[in-house]
Amino acid sequence: AAKDQGCSRWVTFDRAMTDVADSQLAMESSLRRALERGEFELYYQPRLSIADDRIIGAEALLRWHHPTRGLLLPGCFIPFAEKTGLITRIGESVMREAALQQRAWADAGHDVTVSVNMSGRQFRDPRLPTAVAEILAETGSDPCRMQIEITESVLVGDDATSVGALRKLSELGFSIAIDDFGTGYSNLATLQFHPIDVLKIDRSFVATLETRPELAELIIGMCRLLDMRIVAEGVETEEQLGWLRARNCHEYQGYLFSPAIPVDSFDALLTRQKDFAADPGDGVARSP
Ligand code: C2E
Ligand code: MG
Ligand code: MG
Ligand code: MG
Repeated sequence: AAKDQGCSRWVTFDRAMTDVADSQLAMESSLRRALERGEFELYYQPRLSIADDRIIGAEALLRWHHPTRGLLLPGCFIPFAEKTGLITRIGESVMREAALQQRAWADAGHDVTVSVNMSGRQFRDPRLPTAVAEILAETGSDPCRMQIEITESVLVGDDATSVGALRKLSELGFSIAIDDFGTGYSNLATLQFHPIDVLKIDRSFVATLETRPELAELIIGMCRLLDMRIVAEGVETEEQLGWLRARNCHEYQGYLFSPAIPVDSFDALLTRQKDFAADPGDGVARSP
């Protein structure tokens, strides 16, 4: 898979370095350089309404156009960015770009909710809510059309700064989603006491739908109990989509419809969807 390729290329580079400290330092300075030179780009994966198969959202997924190693996936560099603390600056630039994109889509007449991933490390920075509020003011974007994806770990630590930041972001208007739901350690009690709006069922449960449907049933049952919006990740087959549709899940994303794509390609999908709504005679194919 592309993901493994991206990482192994980095691992090879890493191993070639004789000194581990050296390689960490090299990674840190190349991440800084990447920020300065604009080597990061957001790709967007469509999120669709299960009821009518329309694009209603976009998840921003970070990509790094490395000058020599090519296109790198977040799994290869986000852990380093977290470790070095550079995730704060990277995260701010991700938020700014995503906010600008939300504004651009809204201005073009597309109703698309933009979701942004944030790591736990960002939440432990007390300046996070202020920084985000400033970005909203600067970009004129609508937080009610934006979503923040966090993992259960942000809640489980019960860290006062993190919990407070989550509440402030929710109060600003963002909806809050728990990403990779079912893989962490949160429980029903924890989830109830935080401002969570959406649960994203981890793709591992979707992948095992055929063989272990009871796992997915259990996860969906928990979402129902909590009265949250249910998003299925990693939907790759029509069978999986049919199963989720039969259980009234709300949204899905996955390779079945589209992987994360550059913004131009996403624009083309939105335009086609709009044209189709205006003249359904055109016909519309599922894949981009
Ligand atoms: P995630 O938020 O759970 O994102 C879903 C990942 O699954 C993405 O990988 C996406 O490309 C991939 N995916 C989507 N549909 C399918 C499918 O049908 N099948 C399979 N096998 N995979 C699918 P990606 O882009 O490599 O991102 C990996 C993780 O990196 C994300 O997981 C997220 O936790 C993190 N990440 C991405 N962008 C950012 C960012 O801007 N900031 C932070 N802090 N983390 C980010
Ligand atoms: Mg996510
Ligand atoms: Mg996810
Ligand atoms: Mg996941």
